[in-house]
Amino acid sequence: MEEKILVVEDEISLQETLAYNLKKQGYAVYTASTGGQALKSARELKPDLILLDIMLPEMDGFEVCRTLRQEMNTPVLMLTARDDEIDRVVGLEVGADDYLTKPFSMRELLARVKAMLRRVRLIREDAEAKSTAQDSHSGGILTFGNLEINPTRREILFDSKPLALKPKEYELLQYLAVHRGQALTRDTILEKVWGWDFIGDSRTVDVHIRWLREKIEKDPAKPQRIVTVRGAGYRFEG
Ligand code: CA
Repeated sequence: MEEKILVVEDEISLQETLAYNLKKQGYAVYTASTGGQALKSARELKPDLILLDIMLPEMDGFEVCRTLRQEMNTPVLMLTARDDEIDRVVGLEVGADDYLTKPFSMRELLARVKAMLRRVRLIREDAEAKSTAQDSHSGGILTFGNLEINPTRREILFDSKPLALKPKEYELLQYLAVHRGQALTRDTILEKVWGWDFIGDSRTVDVHIRWLREKIEKDPAKPQRIVTVRGAGYRFEG
């Protein structure tokens, strides 16, 4: 199936150039010129990847990305025009997956898009394969006591009630659960869950682990499920 990419850019010549080149690579491309249009299209199309310019009329790319992050887990590649935007882009505040600084070459952009889509596919396949192998007769659901992870529906049940997690919290929990019993370094987790192999801010991992613990641990101060491995990272115990 063709992968869907939503291109959000108000500069029409650049929007057209991006769309043209992405289509040539075989992607299904959709475009938006404002933040409002971007949100509407993202909700309707459920794209596999969003290219998001920061300077947009009405609602800027930061705000669009923050809003998207509450609703979906689609990877976002932000297009920035200024160096001083980069800290905000990669920080927890906005939660973009990656960024490119303008001006960028089309070759660089296409390579980045390809890498991001491949990563999403690998994480999905990995989770599906592992959950199928672990429990082939319960539809791939991972169960750990009162915690149930359903990778197909991307749903968590805690004490039999749905647990609301942010997209990255969900991905992190699923990744940990699939690799139960293994010590995972912050760098590995960053690379696999965020794909930040070249940025690498391990505080991001720590913050998300803290949030998860608050939701799934009986006593978040004395975690039993997600334990800290001294000098290494974290391990999911189940
Ligand atoms: Ca712009």
